[in-house]
Formats: sequence, C-alpha cells, structure tokens
Amino acid sequence: MVDIKRKIGWILIGLTLVGISIFVSYRENADNSPETVLASNELSLSPVPKTVYQGKVPILLYHSIGMREARWTRSVVNFKKDLQWLYDNGYILFSIEDFVDSRYDIIPEGKKPVIITFDDGKSSQFRYLTDGTIDPNCAVGLLDAFYKDHVDFGRAAVFYVNAYPFGQTSLINKKMEYLISTGRQIGFHTLNHNNMRTLSPAQNQYILLKQAETFQKILPTGTRVDTLSYPHGLTPAGGLKAINTAQKDGISYNIKLGLMIGSGSALQLTDSKSNAYRTPRIQAIDSEWLRLFKRNVYAF
Ligand SMILES: [Zn+2]
Repeated sequence: MVDIKRKIGWILIGLTLVGISIFVSYRENADNSPETVLASNELSLSPVPKTVYQGKVPILLYHSIGMREARWTRSVVNFKKDLQWLYDNGYILFSIEDFVDSRYDIIPEGKKPVIITFDDGKSSQFRYLTDGTIDPNCAVGLLDAFYKDHVDFGRAAVFYVNAYPFGQTSLINKKMEYLISTGRQIGFHTLNHNNMRTLSPAQNQYILLKQAETFQKILPTGTRVDTLSYPHGLTPAGGLKAINTAQKDGISYNIKLGLMIGSGSALQLTDSKSNAYRTPRIQAIDSEWLRLFKRNVYAF
C-alpha cells in the first residue's frame, strides 16, 4: 500500500515536471514569435531602414499628342490610358534630375519610378487656349488633370526642345515659368534638330552653346539644364563625353546625361555597367508597351 502511494507520488511529480517544461517551452516560442519581434522593433529607437528601389528605370519617349494615334503621335485617349496603367501598376513619376542624381531614396517603398520625356517641343505638348487656360488636350493639360486626381503619382516630365519650343512664341517665357514652377524640366535637343553624328566636336560644342544661350533668355534664372536627347537618336562621332561641357563669352553648359531613342529600361547610373551618355529610352507606342510591359493596350 505504501509502495503504491509512493509510485503515485512519483508519477504526479513527473507529470508536474513535464507540465512545467511544456509551459516553459511554449513561453520561449512565444517570445520568438514574429509578433513579438515586430513589437520590439517598433519600440526600438533606431527605425528599420526602408528598402530603396534597386531596379531599372523605364524612360518613356513621346513626341506629339493628338486626337488620332499615328507613328509620332500618341492619341489623347491612349495617353490617358498610359498614365492610368502606370498608376495602377505601382509606378510614380520620377524626374530626370532625380535620375541623374540617383535619388531613389525619395521613392516610397513598394513604388517604381518611371520617367516621361517629350522630344521636339511640339505645340501639342503645351498649348494655351485663347481664353488663357491650358489646353486640356495637350500633354501638360493631361498631366495636370491626372495629377489633380492622383497627387501621389506626381507630375514630373522633361521636354527636349529645339528653337521656338511649343509654338506660340509670345508665350514662351510664361510656358517655361509654368513648367519649371510645377516640377518639370527642360533639356537640350539642339536648336535646329541637328544630326550630331555628322558634326565635328567643335561644331557640336557650338550648337550646344547656342542652345544654352537661348535657355538663358527663355528659362527662369538659375534653371538647371544638364540633360540632352540626341536628335534622330544619333550620338556625336567621338561620343558626348568628349564635348559634354563648354564655356564661351559667359555662356556655358555641362551635360551629364545623353538619351537615345530605344529600346529598353535604363540601368541606374550607380550601376558600373551603365553609360550616362547612352541612356536608353522606350518609345511609348503599343508594340513597345506589349513587348516591354506585357501590356496589351487594346485589352485595357
Ligand atoms: Zn527629335
């Protein structure tokens, strides 16, 4: 009888010890649970560093905006769809200056940068109506309207212009003032849309200085202009790097980026394989949307 009581006593002690060890083990697991780790990080004084965007950057190229789609014209309807598709797919507008400066830290986590460029300073890119308002169907009007409803998308865009940008020559200073004050940029495209491939280095420097001189007259004082889109997509013989800066008679330029016409997303400039003077772009046409973004415009 005593033996049985003793055995039951030992069994009870054993069960108690097992129970305690299960409880301790449970507590240890609980302390390592993701929720507990998260809570301790939230209380930490040093914030968790956010993930900075590491990927390539699509730089879209547009020319004219018009009612009907054509080889060098994006229709108003399709341009609106482009903006909506980019927004719905997590893109935000990134400026060409931020691309040059590699400011990926300003992109909200989970978002992707896209840059919009316009070549040739077409009137359909920026037009005032006779009543003094911006044409809602020009590129600037469409970007402004989209921005109004999607502020987090931004409204950056860069315009690579020739002589007499956007027509309406009497309004040029007003237009430039508006663009710069709303976070848009202007870039070199040469005054006469020159084929830089056929010119000597001295001639190319001359035409770039001539455009820099024009920029001094039409842009607000101190406006930064340090990117270029090659007319016809043709780089200077000998490369831009050899002539990227020049100074004469108080006029100067210092170009840090040269944009091609095709044909894919650009590497970040901090990537050792990138070449700032041969930065690729993507023509914003249906076939390229399909090829590079797997987006079927017609199925939108
Ligand atoms: Zn052009």
